[in-house]
Amino acid sequence: MQTEYFARDRLPEAGRKIATGALIAFPTETVYGLGANALSNESVQKIFQAKGRPSDNPLIVHIAKQDELKALAASVSPVAQRLIDAFWPGPLTLVFPKTEQVPDLVTAGLSSVAVRMPAHPWALELLEYAGVPVAAPSANRSGSPSATTWQAVREDLDGRVDGIVCGPPTEIGLESTVVDTTGPRPRILRPGKITYEELVQVCPEIEPYLPKVSHTQDVDDNENEMESNKSGRPALTEDKVLLNSPGLRHRHYQPKAKVRLVSEPLAKADSQSSFIGLQLPNPSAGYLEIQIVGNAEEYGRDLFDFFRRSDRLGVLHIDCQIVPEVGVGVALMDRLKRASE
Ligand code: AMP
Ligand code: MG
Repeated sequence: MQTEYFARDRLPEAGRKIATGALIAFPTETVYGLGANALSNESVQKIFQAKGRPSDNPLIVHIAKQDELKALAASVSPVAQRLIDAFWPGPLTLVFPKTEQVPDLVTAGLSSVAVRMPAHPWALELLEYAGVPVAAPSANRSGSPSATTWQAVREDLDGRVDGIVCGPPTEIGLESTVVDTTGPRPRILRPGKITYEELVQVCPEIEPYLPKVSHTQDVDDNENEMESNKSGRPALTEDKVLLNSPGLRHRHYQPKAKVRLVSEPLAKADSQSSFIGLQLPNPSAGYLEIQIVGNAEEYGRDLFDFFRRSDRLGVLHIDCQIVPEVGVGVALMDRLKRASE
């Protein structure tokens, strides 16, 4: 398949192509998305093929206007509406009970659907021209680091998708926060740019993100992992967590090089390694490539691009400095841990 490249002035055309069944990658404020008409089973099928994505990993549906939610969500609870009013458009995905119109393929057979209204002007314009809800996972091959530039999308998906919108690099660089609103209390399923601290301001009853010990094992391997937790929250079984957000157990965000989590740069690194973190390594450390970031936000913005750059350089190890798990540090450490598995 020949992939077409779209500049900004051709966004209307790219949007209309999605409506007629094409698979088009586009920028959002979090990462680049790979969009298809969410109401067409056939179109959505192409997303899974292009990415090599397992079909039990559900997709996030993107909308430009709140009234598009009616076709997707069977109901919107008062708490969900509060979250919408506070954070949409923006990097917050909400999970609702789904309507019959949403194909099972989009939700991996779940009775719920994940929806987001992105804040990026290019994404909103594209969605408006599409005129349909757009299912869009990150625009990368399944398992690889998410794409934060159109060049990264090209690297993974050239020849596998109908089009790529050539927008600016993404500002956030980490995927959206996912909150389930279908239960008695809203719950963070995936940490992201919108932090627990921000969510709790609007929704004091929200349950924080409950990290899994291992993200890649099968259900049977860690059945009892969630039975006891020290937070005082009711124990959730592993089954329940996987049922509510099945995609979380898959391999994610991994570059070809092995990712090592380090508390400080190695005193003596080899030239087959790269380093990203807040602290400048000792000049004699010997890393082939180094990226120093000012804070966790910058770290999140640059992480996936650094993974890809390191892979192009052919390093064997990427040393990533750990950060405190507060604010956006929770999402950053979640991605780092998954990348290092
Ligand atoms: P990605 O599109 O790669 O950013 O991943 C989307 C993620 O959103 C999935 O892996 C799930 O963790 C989550 N998700 C999507 N749909 C649902 C849903 N219906 N219920 C719970 N989580 C969902
Ligand atoms: Mg993804």
